[in-house]
Amino acid sequence: MSGYNPYDNFLDVLDQAAKEVKLHRNDYETIKYPERELKVSIPIEMDDGSLRVFEGYRVQHSTLRGPGKGGIRYHPDVNIDEVKALAAWMTFKCAVVNIPYGGAKGGITVDPKTLSQNELKRLTRRYTAMILPLIGPERDIPAPDVGTNAQVMDWIMDTYSIMKGYTVPGVVTGKHIDIGGSLGRAEATGRGVMIITEEMLSRLGKKATDCRIAVQGMGNVGGISAKLFAATGCKITAISNVSGGLYCPTGLDVAEVIEFAKTAPITEYKKDGVSYITNEELLTSDCDVLVLAALENQVTADIAKKVKATMIVEGANGPTTVEADKILNKKGVIIVPDILANAGGVVVSYCEWVQNLQSLNWDENDVNVTLKKVMIRAFDSVYEISKQRGIPMRLAAYIVALERLCISRELRGIFP
Ligand code: NAD
Repeated sequence: MSGYNPYDNFLDVLDQAAKEVKLHRNDYETIKYPERELKVSIPIEMDDGSLRVFEGYRVQHSTLRGPGKGGIRYHPDVNIDEVKALAAWMTFKCAVVNIPYGGAKGGITVDPKTLSQNELKRLTRRYTAMILPLIGPERDIPAPDVGTNAQVMDWIMDTYSIMKGYTVPGVVTGKHIDIGGSLGRAEATGRGVMIITEEMLSRLGKKATDCRIAVQGMGNVGGISAKLFAATGCKITAISNVSGGLYCPTGLDVAEVIEFAKTAPITEYKKDGVSYITNEELLTSDCDVLVLAALENQVTADIAKKVKATMIVEGANGPTTVEADKILNKKGVIIVPDILANAGGVVVSYCEWVQNLQSLNWDENDVNVTLKKVMIRAFDSVYEISKQRGIPMRLAAYIVALERLCISRELRGIFP
């Protein structure tokens, strides 16, 4: 949407939260400004011998509660305002789940699907070299996001380690298991989405298995949460990716659809009772729970008016615009906000980092138990504020995070 600035979206909710708990401007003014913004130019020799220069960013929004933490996105729409917003949401996400991290984010304006594996490797290594002064296991720890994966993290870890002269696994999370990744990390965000959805539904006296669930996005977050929901007996009535979606009122065979979409456009999937739908039709489809797990700015005011789900779970970051949020709240739709719903990834990233720093390997069960404990504890604190004050979950989550950030600010003071 032209003119849409996700950082304004962040500031808008921040101001609402500060007003709700009557904070003085001085208490939270610093949180409105990212601490550091780095823009880099990344020249790459392409396979055909030509030269291309890409633009990349790393923003550290806050290191108030610990080192910066946040993913790296490779997508054609990456720009500084998006990276700033994603970094700020990381600050709030880490504070909501109460792990000792600040918030950061990075990205390159590129469509990774148009590059060869070697070009992608050179791009990643050069980008890492350019952001090297900012990152490190005690400074700022990147992780995968849209368009990046464990292989990209492995290259970042290797480049950083070569520059240092020794192996530093704790510089990134989301690596392959063989070089210091954590069991359970790949599924963590999707698993966290499921834990939080079930927890929210239980407070409403409902069970996920009785609900019709629609999922936008079939990647790390959407695909995995859909598979986990289906594995527990839930009905996934719709799912989509960038090329469109599928709808089946009696429930899709999610594992089969995801496998199919790996090699062919989703539009070519054929099965009795399954119809092709657009992404807009998915968002407004007949369902009880709508899981948003694609990109930001998906539910606009126009779409919000037509949403039929009674509950939205934000697996993606910033998928609901400020205007849409207001409309949905008026309609009584419960929105479980991104900074809570998709925090599972950063919680297990934290587990990975702790294992790396201590040179330990945890069992998958230990990781999943920790994830569940941290997610439910965070859910409880947000739900309690929401109930006590009679406010939406998003505002409550921001209040929980903001109060923790303000305590850290107060204790640390302002240098000099
Ligand atoms: P991904 O690249 O693995 O998957 C993204 C999915 O969304 C793909 O299926 C893609 O086809 C689809 N998509 C893209 N544009 C779309 C559109 N316009 N309409 C419908 N579908 C579209 O990315 P991911 O890691 O799953 O991340 C998804 C969202 O979740 C992002 O907002 C990301 O910041 C957030 N998130 C990711 C993690 C993580 O651990 N990966 C953690 C927290 C939050």
